[in-house]
This record gives sequence, structure tokens and C-alpha cells, in this order.
Amino acid sequence: MHALISGASVAGPVLAYWLRRNGWRVTVVERAADMRAGDGGHAVDLFGPAVDVIERMGLLDAVTAARTENDTITLFREGRRPITLATADLAGGISGRHVEIMRGTLAGILHEATRDDADYRFGTVIEKLDGTAALLSDGTTIDADLVVGADGLHSGVRGLAFGPEQDYRRFLGAYLAVYTLPDVLGTGPTVAAFTAPGRAATVYPTLTPGWSRALFLARTPEEIPHDRRDPDAQKRVLRDLVGGTLGPPADEVLAHAAAADDFYLDDISQIRMDSWSRGAVTLVGDAGYGPGPAVGGGTSLAAAGAYVLAAELRDVTAGEIPRALRRYEDALATPVGHSRRIGPSVLAAIVPRSRAQVWTTAQVMRLLPRLPASFRRRLTSFGGGPAAMLDGLELR
Ligand SMILES: Cc1cc2nc3c(=O)[nH]c(=O)nc-3n(C[C@H](O)[C@H](O)[C@H](O)COP(=O)(O)OP(=O)(O)OC[C@H]3O[C@@H](n4cnc5c(N)ncnc54)[C@H](O)[C@@H]3O)c2cc1C
Repeated sequence: MHALISGASVAGPVLAYWLRRNGWRVTVVERAADMRAGDGGHAVDLFGPAVDVIERMGLLDAVTAARTENDTITLFREGRRPITLATADLAGGISGRHVEIMRGTLAGILHEATRDDADYRFGTVIEKLDGTAALLSDGTTIDADLVVGADGLHSGVRGLAFGPEQDYRRFLGAYLAVYTLPDVLGTGPTVAAFTAPGRAATVYPTLTPGWSRALFLARTPEEIPHDRRDPDAQKRVLRDLVGGTLGPPADEVLAHAAAADDFYLDDISQIRMDSWSRGAVTLVGDAGYGPGPAVGGGTSLAAAGAYVLAAELRDVTAGEIPRALRRYEDALATPVGHSRRIGPSVLAAIVPRSRAQVWTTAQVMRLLPRLPASFRRRLTSFGGGPAAMLDGLELR
């Protein structure tokens, strides 16, 4: 049996690994020209069952050794004393089993573990899809038994097999931006945080000494029309949204967006599909059920979803694939439903709406270390957020 997977980030390589273990032939096409390993991208979280998946792949030591070491977070407030907190106090309520790692680092480890067994083709996309017969941009054709879109929020396979993105995208009322800049704040190993009504930013050190990465979040009720392919237009959107709102240090960070060559801006949207399989074509991870970048635990859902998909495909014949894909969707129905509720509530917690909420956030951060552990866990659980969404998911 031959699987053609589009996307080599999290869901793609996890699926490739488990399908290979089950004796499948696997081809992975990836739009990026090469593996952007290292500490590229942004910090992502593996919770509970997703950590189990990594452990079952024999990669937990490698992933844990490469985890981020942002052990404290400092909230800076204009004219007031900064508040510093251990990140463990904030994440304690999220999950007992949790690893934070840069997405590029995780993708690099997953690629390393699968590169000798799967046929990876970088700089390649699926151009046409007729059932499971694919024409690739390298000019070759593949007549696969299964085609999987593991190609993220703006999935190419989803577009080819299910129709335009706007039919499935739900805007959550915010934008995010991320980019790398010199460590201009000089805040050392802590995560520097800034908040204002409808705005939030964090700046944290990268693994390369002297450099840091900024993440901005901004609410806006309407989407802002702009050319997504034009980095200058994207940088203008960020400047218009957050300039002058988060205080002088955050503005200094913002000024460095102009020179960033890895600048990324996107709307915070969910992918909502009633079904994400058609015949022997399916989607996994953000492509099929992205809960919203930075707010929904999408990485854990992607890793666990890929594992569940491979488990349902164990020992099936080609004719049995569509039924296996229905079982895969059924197994994920509860966590995916849960994940759709998480984004808005996490957004509400990390991007305060009003001055009063900005003040309350600061007070909670100040008090948190002094509270009993059980109360602390309850306060930081985001209403049973990203980690709890995978509770009850059984990994076969
Ligand atoms: C700024 C930011 C912050 C985030 N923070 C967090 C966080 O704190 N915690 C968390 O859990 N998650 C976070 N996320 C979300 C997380 O990155 C995703 O949920 C996760 O990476 C999903 O994995 P995936 O494999 O499904 O898709 P992706 O990681 O999006 O990977 C898709 C892959 O497909 C490739 N691709 C795209 N189109 C094509 C195509 N047409 N053909 C071939 N290949 C293609 C892409 O290059 C990419 O390699 C964040 C996301 C962003 C953008």
C-alpha cells in the first residue's frame, strides 16, 4: 500500500513513521525547499497523549533534550514594577505531562527519524488530484492508495479535494505575528510579556545567543484585507494593529519587524469541517481541524490525530480505507469538538479585552505563586483547555 502525504511538519512525519511501521510505502511532498530544522518558527506544546505518541516513537529523550527553557515569564507594565512568575506555575494547570519545543526543532527531529524510510520530496506540491491519482509539481505522477493532506491551515490537499478555504475557515477575531529580532530588550532568559486591551506580546530568547523571537496577538472584529504574499503589506497590518498600544519597549520590538526576513502574520482562524475524508483522501492536523494557531493546542491534536489515523489503517486492504477513515473521524470527534471551544477561551485569557481585565491578569500573576497548588491548577487550566481536549483519547 502506498500513501502520498502532503506536508512535512508535525502530522506528516508522525503519520509517515507509523504507516512505515505498518509496512506502507510512503511519499511525503513538502512545499518548503528544505527542512527548516533548528529553532525556526514558534514554540509549540505537546500535551498528554501527544507526548505518549512521541515516546512510542522512541523520540521522547531527543524532544525533551531540545525543549525550550523559558522557565520564567515577566510581565512588564508601564510605570509599575515587573511581575515575574515560573512558567511551570502557569502551565501547571494545563497538563502534568507537557513539553514546549520550537516547531522547527520538533519537525527536524521527526524528519530525522523518518527520512531513511520515506521518500521525502522538498520543494514539491500536489498540483492535481483525481481521486488518489496525483500530479506533482516535479512533473511526476503518483497513483497512491491513500492521499493525506498534512499541509496545515492553508492546506493544498483540502483545496484540491474539498474546495476553497473560505468554506471551512472561521475567523476568531484576532491576528498573530511572529518574527526573529536581535535581543534588544536584554531581558535574558525570561519570556517578556506585555498586555493592553485587545493586545498582547511576548518576546523570548531563541536557541541562538543574542537573538529573540517576538509573538504579537491583536484582536480585531473584522478581517483586514491585504495581500498575504506581500511581507511589507503584512508588516503594515501588524504596525497598524499594535503600534503605540503596548508601551515603548514593545514598540522598539515592533520597529524590528521591518528588517525581519522570517516575518509571519496570519489571522487566528479555525478549520471547521463536518467531515475531512472523501474516498481515500483525508486530512490530518491543522489541515482538517486546526483549532486556531497559538490558542488551541494544534500541535498535540496534529500528533495524536496522525497516530490515530495510522492505527485505524493498520492491516486494512485498499478497499477498506474509506471505512477506516470514518473510524478515524469518529475517534477524533470528541477532541476536535472540544478543541473548537478552546481557542476562544484561551484567546480571552491571554489577550485581555479591557483595562479591568489587564489589571486582573497582573493580579493573578502576582498572586499565583502564593496560592495552594490545587487552586493554582484550577486557575491556569483555561477551563480544561488544550491538554484536557485529548483526555479520553485512547491510543491503540
Ligand atoms: C505563530 C504560531 C504560534 C503557535 N503556537 C502554538 C502553541 O503555542 N502551541 C501549539 O500547540 N500550537 C501552536 N501553534 C499551532 C501549531 O504550529 C500547529 O497546530 C501545528 O504545527 C500543526 O501541525 P501540522 O503538521 O498539522 O501543520 P503545520 O505545522 O502547519 O505544517 C504544514 C506543513 O505543510 C507544508 N505545506 C503547506 N502547504 C503545502 C502544500 N500545498 N503542499 C505541500 N506542503 C505544504 C508547510 O510548509 C508545513 O511544513 C502556533 C502556530 C503559529 C503560526
